Amino acid sequence: MSLLRTSSLASLLFVAACASLPDEATSVVATPAPFERLAAGNRRFAEGVALGFGRDPQRRTEVAKAQRPFAIVVTCSDSRVCPELLFDAGLGDLFVVRTAGHVLDDHALGSIEYAAEHLGAHALLVVGHERCGAVAAAMGSSELPGHIESLATAIRPAIAPLLDGRDAADACVAENVRATVAALRESGPILHELVEAGTLEVKGGVYDLDTGVVEFVETKAAGEH
Ligand SMILES: [Zn+2]
Repeated sequence: MSLLRTSSLASLLFVAACASLPDEATSVVATPAPFERLAAGNRRFAEGVALGFGRDPQRRTEVAKAQRPFAIVVTCSDSRVCPELLFDAGLGDLFVVRTAGHVLDDHALGSIEYAAEHLGAHALLVVGHERCGAVAAAMGSSELPGHIESLATAIRPAIAPLLDGRDAADACVAENVRATVAALRESGPILHELVEAGTLEVKGGVYDLDTGVVEFVETKAAGEH
């Protein structure tokens, strides 16, 4: 997969985390920042050394009465893109919203708002993926049956300028991520305000089905067009 101006989410954030923490501080940081935690989990998954923690009866008991997910993940319904596996996360760790092509509607936005405002999640990662069927469908021009067409209709505006380019499929996947990130950052009345206040950070990434790595996708800053 070739994506312009992307970099390994895991390596970038790991380096950033190490660079920003003096040695004496690392020993007292019990819980890494949300994106660093996602990056570390993805690194374990990609390298085949996932811990699979947080899935035992003890964790189930801990989160049975209340949840406080450390991140929101908005991603595709594709059976190969399971956030808890990709990020080696456990029960109660991730608040996940999935639709084919991570298409947003009012129900999806309401779910995300609930996690950001009510559950206090401060990190939101949109994860697109290589060879996404929903994006591929949107790249075509034929009308699709039933409600499937509504997915393609939602995706098409963002990817339309890229259809004739080289590596169009990968470019369209990345652009669909950027479009979802932008839509979330600008979504009023809750998410936009949280982003503006600095209490919610929205990033995008693309999952490589072959390597297991989630790479950051460069996105415009909130409010930048
Ligand atoms: Zn997909």
